[in-house]
Amino acid sequence: AAAARATDLSKVYGEGETQVIALDSVSVEFRQAEFTAIMGPSGSGKSTLMHCMAGLDTISSGSARIGDVELTTLKDKKLTQLRRDKIGFIFQAFNLLPTLNALENITLPMDIAGRKADQAWLDQVVATVGLAGRLKHRPNQLSGGQQQRVAVARALAGQPEIIFADEPTGNLDSRSGAEVLGFLRNSVREMGQTIVMVTHDPVAASYSDRVVFLADGRIVDELRNPTADGVL
Ligand code: ADP
Ligand code: ADP
Repeated sequence: AAAARATDLSKVYGEGETQVIALDSVSVEFRQAEFTAIMGPSGSGKSTLMHCMAGLDTISSGSARIGDVELTTLKDKKLTQLRRDKIGFIFQAFNLLPTLNALENITLPMDIAGRKADQAWLDQVVATVGLAGRLKHRPNQLSGGQQQRVAVARALAGQPEIIFADEPTGNLDSRSGAEVLGFLRNSVREMGQTIVMVTHDPVAASYSDRVVFLADGRIVDELRNPTADGVL
């Protein structure tokens, strides 16, 4: 089943001389329990595609669906609700609150939404990302890799149908990056998560199930079971 799907999705910024066609009739499916990497040169539309699919940006034409929900039909309030209930986000900057400890950061989105985390799931997530001994620590007491794992756990905690990750290892040294990527890959394998990750790092892309290549706002290639050498 498709966790998310774009059909003939176009996104145009500006008008007249400053008009930019960021996405030009893109069709792509993100299947359940599949880890997709999106690669392509700077300015090729990677972030725009992710933002449009995550309902963070409006689309100009075509269709963007999360599950069977068409995002273009949703009013702001419903869209916010859908983002909160079905989508997890991992950004390059960890966006952790410095005054909260790791566990409080992890459960914050659910606390805001007034939802109670499923304790068994939360335990599994915390164990999977290897934070069991660090839950009472605040962000400034954690390494960069551990902070990013908190951000990963936060994205997973609410059991979202799909996770969008924008360069999730961009700020990490290669060892911490490999750990975070291993955890993401494991969460796809063990918990059936759907993950869409923007990256320009071939090693990061090699953890995915398939790579979708963008150029000038179009999908130009797709590769299954990528290796780091294969995506260079
Ligand atoms: P990538 O993530 O691959 O680097 P982006 O999706 O950020 O590419 O950008 C795709 C194109 O859309 C680029 O030409 C960029 O300049 C343009 N663009 C992105 N965001 C905006 C915006 N808010 N306003 C105008 N143009 C934008
Ligand atoms: P563990 O050894 O605890 O499983 P790892 O982070 O080493 O943790 O690996 C987690 C998952 O990522 C495993 O499924 C492993 O096969 C996979 N993996 C590890 N390294 C790579 C790599 N370089 N490319 C692709 N997948 C990898």
